[in-house]
Amino acid sequence: MSIKGMEGYGKIDLHLHLDGSLSAGTILRLAEKDGVKLAAKTEEELLPYITVSRDCRDLNEYLRCFEIPLMILQTAENLFAAAYELGRELRKKGLVYAEIRFAPQLHGRLGTTQEEAVQAVLAGIHKAMEESGDKICLRAILCCMRGEDTHEANLETVRTAAGYLGKGVVAADLAGAEGLYPTGDFAEEFTLARDLGVPVTIHAGEADGPKSIWKALEFGAARIGHGVRAIEDEELMRELAARGIPLEMCPTSNLQTKAAERIVDYPLREYLRRGIKVTVNSDNMTVSDTWAGNEFALLSKEYGLTEAEAELLYRNAEEAEFDRIAGRA
Ligand SMILES: [Zn+2]
Repeated sequence: MSIKGMEGYGKIDLHLHLDGSLSAGTILRLAEKDGVKLAAKTEEELLPYITVSRDCRDLNEYLRCFEIPLMILQTAENLFAAAYELGRELRKKGLVYAEIRFAPQLHGRLGTTQEEAVQAVLAGIHKAMEESGDKICLRAILCCMRGEDTHEANLETVRTAAGYLGKGVVAADLAGAEGLYPTGDFAEEFTLARDLGVPVTIHAGEADGPKSIWKALEFGAARIGHGVRAIEDEELMRELAARGIPLEMCPTSNLQTKAAERIVDYPLREYLRRGIKVTVNSDNMTVSDTWAGNEFALLSKEYGLTEAEAELLYRNAEEAEFDRIAGRA
């Protein structure tokens, strides 16, 4: 099958960060509007600051690419524009469903509250959906952050997610430096999520090992972000398969952050063989310079992904949409 044909399987993106998907053009336009001075004046000059290549050294280099987007995304107006333009871009690429995630607590440097940030993003995705004639369905996931001092803000994020469930928000997440701040430190957040009936996905098994994924399951995660390192634990793989827990895998990003060293060793096929519900996603369209369709094309070209496998991955993604998970609950 042609590469273009394989791109067609990338119609659903379940793991997509708003800040890491802010395009160079949008950054330049919003910076100019706000009088923010950037070292770069053109898209070409800006790209090295916001995009990594495959030879990215580690997660730290990867995370530096979020500095400029986050600097720009500090007002409700800009969050609205970012969400709207991302939604429009996804539709242009042929997507029919995407869950866009962001951490409301990272957008308050100028006083924007978490709730204002959420309202702005929801308004942006709503406008993009409306303009598409509802050809694309967009939803939001609110990320809690790993960190020293994030618990209060995280609890507010979970409460905000509960308040906007069914109004565009579909779940809460936990993002940030997994290696430094283990999943187990965030029990309070997920107890609250359970009490408030907020579905949960958790970044786990990316920088940290299987125990992080076990913790995420214990915390009630309905899906796992990445899950690359589940391959190290037979019992965990059996558990993921038996419970039908979808993994939101992001091949390009995993190679860039070195969660996976070489694409030939990528555990995706082994997971499929064991009946784990793997899905393929982009993570960050700008930072990783990719999109869902491109991930399928990459897997086809460099991993020998077959059409049958691509179809299975696509069906898994359909079943893993939080809209559907919530419908089954
Ligand atoms: Zn992520």
